Amino acid sequence: MARTIWFMIKLAVVVAAALWIADNPGTVNLDWQGWRVAAPLWVLALAVVALMAFAALLYRGWRAIVGAPRAFVRARRARKREKGYRALTQGLVAVAAGDPASAKTFAKKADVLLNEPPLTLLLSAQAAQLGGDETAAARYFRTMLENPQTAFLGVRGLLMQALRRNDHGEALLLARRAQQIQPKTPWVLATLFELEARAGNWSSAEAVLRDAVHVDALPAPVGRRHRAALLVEQSDAAAAEGRREVALAAAQQAHDLDVAFAPATVRVARLLWAAKRPRPALRAVERSWKARPHPDLSAVWGEMVDPGTDVLAQVKRFQTLVGMAPEAPEGHLALAEIAMRARLWGEARKHLTKVADRPEGPGSRRAFRMLAELEEAERGDRDAARRWLARAAEADPDPAWICSACGSHADRWSARCAACGSFDTLSWQVPGSPVAVLALPAGSGAGVPADMPGLPPAGGGSIVPVPSRPEPKPA
Ligand SMILES: [Zn+2]
Repeated sequence: MARTIWFMIKLAVVVAAALWIADNPGTVNLDWQGWRVAAPLWVLALAVVALMAFAALLYRGWRAIVGAPRAFVRARRARKREKGYRALTQGLVAVAAGDPASAKTFAKKADVLLNEPPLTLLLSAQAAQLGGDETAAARYFRTMLENPQTAFLGVRGLLMQALRRNDHGEALLLARRAQQIQPKTPWVLATLFELEARAGNWSSAEAVLRDAVHVDALPAPVGRRHRAALLVEQSDAAAAEGRREVALAAAQQAHDLDVAFAPATVRVARLLWAAKRPRPALRAVERSWKARPHPDLSAVWGEMVDPGTDVLAQVKRFQTLVGMAPEAPEGHLALAEIAMRARLWGEARKHLTKVADRPEGPGSRRAFRMLAELEEAERGDRDAARRWLARAAEADPDPAWICSACGSHADRWSARCAACGSFDTLSWQVPGSPVAVLALPAGSGAGVPADMPGLPPAGGGSIVPVPSRPEPKPA
């Protein structure tokens, strides 16, 4: 519409000018350097218009000639970039399809055609990893460190490689660097926490844990339990240095965080007892016992007696303990043990039978063995003892501290698995049972990589190197 109006205006001006010239006839005389031209006005106007058109044409031609090389270069560059992006896309498709040879070829092609180091370096690293060339991949990742745009991906690639090699020292340094670059990335915090805890850097681990829970890298209940485990270790370290007040404060905090966490209760009870505070010590054990009975709790309950307490008084104390959790086999076994020491055979047999009558329940193997001892001690009946021992051999194993990362058994709890070094993976459970008594949600334990929160699933198709467990394989 606007263009039509504009055209009409221009046409009107031209027509008006022509009419004006027609209405005002006359001759223009030009006298210059001895030349004399006389022409009607309309001829002169026409000549001026023709001259202007010719000049415009000349200018365009000149521009085209001067700009030709630059236009040629520009077109060539565009074609090259288009080819480069096509190679990059084909390379990514090859990585996703798990075709290392094509991935490598396209990576090289894209690198030559495109001046985009962030994209081509990543593809080259992926292609190298896919082809099993970890050395070349590491070289690409290190080159990526030099560019602020790609540094984080470079650190990540190197970190995953270090984790796959089980080089936890190197992994810790890289995870710290990753945290410096991106302090709020969930997988960085979860990984860094695992590595700090694994290294026994309890206070650094605690600081990272707080951030990790804050950004939802770890669920709050898991964070609380990890914190309790850290505090127990800090308490042990302080106690070893003779700093009893610090040790007690840390153990108390751990106990308050997770009242059912027996290792924390045992420590707080012992420290309170040693500090001549028997009432809170016993109360801590009672609370924990009611929440989740555990043999370590009954053991510390047995320790916390005034000197000179006789064995019959101990039997009474354990009867109180059993009364707090009548269904728990741990209580009956502890009571039977103390009753046998007091030579109260009937009492001991009553409680052992309660556990042994439930052969599928935990602790029955120990109950059968104790019944064998009882037969020998009470009546010297070796045949009966042998029968109980035979049943013990067939019963389910007793619960133990078992590492959810490597499956190894431990005699006593510690924050780090002695076999694999994973943090807070020991849980009290019957070996081989799928249900862990103290089990944590998957991914909360150490061993980091595959189930690390925030990481894309392992396997082909991911642009970022993804760790895999237990068998290292290129992503
Ligand atoms: Zn382990």
